[in-house]
Amino acid sequence: MRNTDEVTTSTRRSYANSEQQYAEACTVLAGGVNSNFRLHGQPVPLVFQRGIGARLYDVDGNVYVDYAMGMGPNILGHAPEPVIRAVADSLAGGQIFAGQHSSEVQLARRVCELVPCAELVRFGVAGSEMDQAALRLARAYTGRAKVVKFEGHYHGWFDTILVSVAPPLDQAGPAEEPLPHLPSAGQSVAAAQDIVILPWNNLDVVRAYLQAHATETAALIMEPILCNTSVIVPRPGYLEGVRELCDRYGVVLIFDEVITGFRVGLHGAQGRLGVTPDLSVFAKSLAGGFPIGAVVGRRSIMELAADGSVLHGGSFNGHTASMAAGLATLQELSRAGVYEQMEARGDALMAGLRRVAERAGIRLLVQGLGTVFNTAFCDGPPVTDYRSYQQCSDSAQLRGFLHALQEHGVRPTSRGTWFLSTAHTDADVEETIRAAEAALGFPGRGRAA
Ligand code: PMP
Repeated sequence: MRNTDEVTTSTRRSYANSEQQYAEACTVLAGGVNSNFRLHGQPVPLVFQRGIGARLYDVDGNVYVDYAMGMGPNILGHAPEPVIRAVADSLAGGQIFAGQHSSEVQLARRVCELVPCAELVRFGVAGSEMDQAALRLARAYTGRAKVVKFEGHYHGWFDTILVSVAPPLDQAGPAEEPLPHLPSAGQSVAAAQDIVILPWNNLDVVRAYLQAHATETAALIMEPILCNTSVIVPRPGYLEGVRELCDRYGVVLIFDEVITGFRVGLHGAQGRLGVTPDLSVFAKSLAGGFPIGAVVGRRSIMELAADGSVLHGGSFNGHTASMAAGLATLQELSRAGVYEQMEARGDALMAGLRRVAERAGIRLLVQGLGTVFNTAFCDGPPVTDYRSYQQCSDSAQLRGFLHALQEHGVRPTSRGTWFLSTAHTDADVEETIRAAEAALGFPGRGRAA
């Protein structure tokens, strides 16, 4: 392996070891992966050896400035020393007790201090399962069955909610009354029958829907900043309007902050945008790369779990390692200036990507916030929701760009989303912009037609 941290800009990297180890993985792991979202994760399926700070090293010795950051969780970068130390110390005292311990209380208290809607907390191990808990709480609280979910938003892979995440447009129905689309073979149609799909970022549609159906609607669930379709900040007044409608009709408003939580700010998207939901779900960045999930919210709703009427369980919930990781992560993120610096670097990266694309005569949409943004080859009206994104973005060009970036030592996620971490430096950003400039000129790849 190369003994330098410099990212190579040679355009003929070898992936021989990755290819061989991936082929071997396919003999024992279904598809060679442990999540379908890694199935086509890289143009060449990479096998990684280690990650340190902002860098990832593959088994061929190639180095990458990493912006996948574990799909978001590694908000402090790879192997952050304070978190690793806290986890190691906690594990010396045991792992799980099937009973209470002090660090889960400390972490819950800190979450309540930081998250506007959090009066009570329950921890789990992933976002998907905490979204389930939120839906169950909302249905129990209201005694209603229907849940409104928005096209292009993702709330985990379970049967009840895996609907219309990325529906093919020819199967998606009318824009204002989308047809529910179940993407996975084997999904229970019955489990998803109470999900209603609406387009996001359109207050009139929500108003009209609730006027007609509020009495059967338990909850509205959304990513308050949509990060699973480009990265789209809601229109001014949209979240406020939804909040008001939910109040008027007694519908539980759930913000899925699995990506935005502790990433777009210490108080989540709800703190940043000033709209407080009734329930909210957190995961990824909360424990700096260790498995965690949390459902948090208003006492009156969360108490349904306290009195046992709503069942939420899990052998690994409150695991000592994850609680220690969460406490250490929040401590680091609470330091003055951390978010400002991370966001400023991300803003500089976004500006640099726009600049090199413009210079190359390529229409590259760079959309989002400094701490999480998306790149797409787009030519069309502004991207405000799932359909406007699908209609304008060219996925073949994106693939070419990602491939070229990989060759130049830069790794965003496979759908063109970039996650910043506190480990990224100004030098990383400059190097990335240079790599992107080279990638946009890569013969036959990443160049606009
Ligand atoms: N909600 C959102 C908004 C997500 O982005 C994700 C995962 N990307 C989930 C829920 C599911 O979380 P997990 O993968 O931890 O189950």
